[in-house]
Order: sequence, then structure tokens, then C-alpha cells
Amino acid sequence: MNGDYDSGSPPLVKLAAKTGALDILTTTVDKLFSWGQASALWPMTFGLACCAIEYMASAAPMYDTDRFGVILRSSPRQSDVMVVAGTVTNKMAPVVRQLYEQMPDPKWVIAMGICTIAGGPFRTYSTLQGVDRIIPVDVHVPGCPPRPEALIDAILLLQRQIKQEGVLRWQPRPLPPRPTGVGHGVEPVQ
Ligand code: SF4
Repeated sequence: MNGDYDSGSPPLVKLAAKTGALDILTTTVDKLFSWGQASALWPMTFGLACCAIEYMASAAPMYDTDRFGVILRSSPRQSDVMVVAGTVTNKMAPVVRQLYEQMPDPKWVIAMGICTIAGGPFRTYSTLQGVDRIIPVDVHVPGCPPRPEALIDAILLLQRQIKQEGVLRWQPRPLPPRPTGVGHGVEPVQ
């Protein structure tokens, strides 16, 4: 990194780069930003099926995810976490993908429930067999439905992941092919 600041940079930046202080500063700022980002996750308010009821319960007073800085937002443009809660149909797949693309970077995805993770009991022509076929997933929460405690555990795991990865070093995840809405990713029923 030091070589990047050898010419054309202000003297203070050059001095900082030579002494290694710039690296220390960047690392420290990254830690601060990552702590801030992880402590104030804003998931999008949306649900697809019965798992969404547990998702709603997690935000209600008994479980109160607000205490972790998790504040649900009504627009993808204000959200940095997508909790996919419920069965994703092929017809809905392009909409889920569009919502994901409307979220600003950096962003993360939690797949909640076995329907979201792998189609659940619905191994049919109409059901997407795993949301990771259309968007990248960071944390999977198994169960049918997972209880709010499981979702809270996933949120805490995501917070640790964000702090470890570093928000300034976040890279956009590779995107799977764009879903068409018809017959996407469904193998013949065995
Ligand atoms: S995993 Fe169970 S609770 Fe969740 S959407 Fe599927 S059937 Fe409903």
C-alpha cells in the first residue's frame, strides 16, 4: 500500500504511508465502521409465507430485536439485510432478486426456514429449491419454522461475521443467473 502514495500525494499522507501509520489508521477506521454497521442492522420488512410470522414475532415486544439495533425498514433502499422468510415460488423469484438489487451495498442475506433454504416439503414445479439459486446467502437458519430465538442467533452470527470481514473490505457476492420466473432451477421430481 505504501507504494501507492509515493508520488502526487500530500506530504502528510506520504509520511503516514512511509511509517505504516496509514495502514494502522485504515484498520482502526474499518473496525469502527464494522462495529457501527453490525450494531445497527436494518432488515427489510417483507415476508413470503408462514416463516414470516416468526420473523414478525422476533420484532414484537417479547423478543424485541430492536435491542440489538435491528430496526425493520419498509424500503429496500434503506435496508442492509434481507431476511427471506418463507417459501419462494418461481413466480416470486424475479421480485426477490429485484428487491435484493435495490438494496445499497454493503448488504447481507439471511435465509430463514427450510422452504427458503431448499424448497422444504414443496418439491414441485412451482417452488424454487433454494433461494441461494437467485441471491447470495450469508446465514442459513434451518427449521420449519425456525423460532424467533433461532433468528436472533442468526443475527448475532451475522454481526460477528460483519465485524470479522470488515465493512470496508466487503465485496459484492457473485450473483447467480437472473431468474425468469418460470421453471427456474427446479429439477424433475424424484
Ligand atoms: S419452513 Fe415451514 S414454516 Fe417456514 S415457510 Fe416453509 S412450511 Fe412455512
